[in-house]
Amino acid sequence: MAPLPEQFLKRMQERLGKDFPAFFASYGRPPARGLRVNTLKISPEEFARRAPFPLGETIGEAGFYIEEEKPGADPYHFAGLYYLQEPSAMTVGSMSVECPKKRVLDLCAAPGGKTTHVAAQMAGEGVLIANEVNYSRAKILSQNVERMGICNSAVISASPETLAARFPAYFDLVLADAPCSGEGMFKKEENAIPEWSEANVARCAERQREILDCAADMVCLGGRLLYSTCTFAEEEDEWQIEDFLARHPAFTLLGMKKLYPHTFRGEGHFCALLRRDEGESFPAKPFPVHRSIQAEKAYRAFAEDFFTAPPQGTVHTLADGRMYLVPAGMPALAGVSLLRLGVELGEWDGKLFRPAHALAMAYGDRARRKIMLPREAAKAYLRGETLASDAQNGWCVVCVEEYPLGLGKAVNGTVKNHLPKGLRMAKDVLR
Ligand code: SAM
Repeated sequence: MAPLPEQFLKRMQERLGKDFPAFFASYGRPPARGLRVNTLKISPEEFARRAPFPLGETIGEAGFYIEEEKPGADPYHFAGLYYLQEPSAMTVGSMSVECPKKRVLDLCAAPGGKTTHVAAQMAGEGVLIANEVNYSRAKILSQNVERMGICNSAVISASPETLAARFPAYFDLVLADAPCSGEGMFKKEENAIPEWSEANVARCAERQREILDCAADMVCLGGRLLYSTCTFAEEEDEWQIEDFLARHPAFTLLGMKKLYPHTFRGEGHFCALLRRDEGESFPAKPFPVHRSIQAEKAYRAFAEDFFTAPPQGTVHTLADGRMYLVPAGMPALAGVSLLRLGVELGEWDGKLFRPAHALAMAYGDRARRKIMLPREAAKAYLRGETLASDAQNGWCVVCVEEYPLGLGKAVNGTVKNHLPKGLRMAKDVLR
């Protein structure tokens, strides 16, 4: 690790006093790693029984410490059974457990740690809008939402200002996991060290102030605002919240948590939970669903045959034949880039319905025809190989054990691989 900035150390020494040596010593230890079990797909107890590598102590409701070097290169990871998350970042989700979650916005969501955590708590109820202003990062967020099988969300890319103008006093929970000076990332991201300066702390604090003002505008009466950073600077943490409360007297501070690497086995995080006690609540226009009788008929015929219990809901069909299951209560999202809406069902070309990968990830457990592969054989599927199988001809869901990985199409003793090309793994990548 590169030497820590002198000015940073001086500031930490002033802040921590007698605790500074313990804080400093924490940089001599390897970074703490964690995973959070996706309870939309498996219970933490069941995951612990099947875990492909040793799990350490638990973190919160569904997290575990791990030592594994390549935890992302495992078929269970592809099946969305877990999300790799820095242990102290799981505190944000722990603070949101009791919050109302009918209409949730994650304002700074990529790559999806907090989004996927809150989605697991929502268990398919309510609507979760996951926003990321940076479009290429929003694509990664969208992939993670798909992998985790989240069915009640939309992934969008817009600035906080655009969203604040569109959704005044609408959400009952807004998460603002703001970009920050990343003092808690020094071990994980080497770039965070040379980028650190007092001037950058001040710039981050200014940007956070703007993000928080937009976030506040979108919280409805009685709703919550959950702010977090992975830095220790007061300007971005405690003082930011003090300053926010002075500008927004309608909000009450419900709690703050600051984790340091010498007080918690993790790299550090700050979270503040606020409630809006004055103001109003406004509805938003509902999502304008476009229906196509023929396309829906084709999908419903497919779903009756494919699923034991076809997923229910409103089907939205685009002019090009792509179809989506829209979560109940989804608001209109005009004027923002929409990367993912509910669950992509598939595509109708006027003659045939072709199911989408997202459908297998969200509802594949209900499929009638599942090919349940042991872990080694599942790796062949993840590499894009064709499988031998005596499955009945037609679309099927390919699983690692009983956990869906994607689609296949059985044709006379073989299963053609329909895993999207961009998700396939090179031979030597998988553990
Ligand atoms: N919540 C994410 C998670 O748990 O995986 C991490 C979010 S990261 C700390 C902050 C995000 O804010 C980044 O993805 C960054 O692109 C985005 N961001 C940067 N500038 C922003 C701005 N001005 N307004 C909103 N978001 C911004």
